[in-house]
Amino acid sequence: MLLEIDYQTEILLLEITIIIARSFIELLFFAIGACIFSFLNVIIYRLPRKMQFTMGSSMCTSCHHKLMAKDLVPIVSWCSLKGKCRYCGEKISVRYTIVEVLGGVAAVVWTLTLGINLWAVLAFIATGIVLTGAYILYDKVREKNADKKAV
Ligand SMILES: [Zn+2]
Repeated sequence: MLLEIDYQTEILLLEITIIIARSFIELLFFAIGACIFSFLNVIIYRLPRKMQFTMGSSMCTSCHHKLMAKDLVPIVSWCSLKGKCRYCGEKISVRYTIVEVLGGVAAVVWTLTLGINLWAVLAFIATGIVLTGAYILYDKVREKNADKKAV
C-alpha cells in the first residue's frame, strides 16, 4: 500500500530535499575552497623565502618535522591540535586557519552570488591572488619594521 500525501506536503518535502541538497553542495564548495586556500598558505610562506612550493612535503615551521596527512586537514587539524604542533608543541599561527576559512567562505559566497560557473571560478581565483599578495606584502612590511626596531 502506497502512502498517500497531499499536494502541499509533497511540495514541502521537495523544498526540504532541495535545501538539504544545496547545503551539502555549499559544504562541498566550502571544503574545496578551504583546501585550495590551504595551498595558498604554502605559497605565502615559501615564495618570499625563495623555497620551492610545488614539491616537498609540509613541515612544522618551528621543529621542521614532516607533517602527516592528519595534520594537513584544513581547519580541522588546527582545531584538533588546539593550535599547537603535534611534535614540538609550538604554537601554530591562527592565520593559516583564517586563510583556509576565507577560502571556504569565498567559494560559498561566489557560487551563491554568481552561480556555479566560470565567473565564480575567476572571482575565487582573483580572491586567492589578492589574499596571497596582501599576506606576502604584510609579512614584508612587518619584517622591515622588525629590522628597523632591531637597529
Ligand atoms: Zn613542530
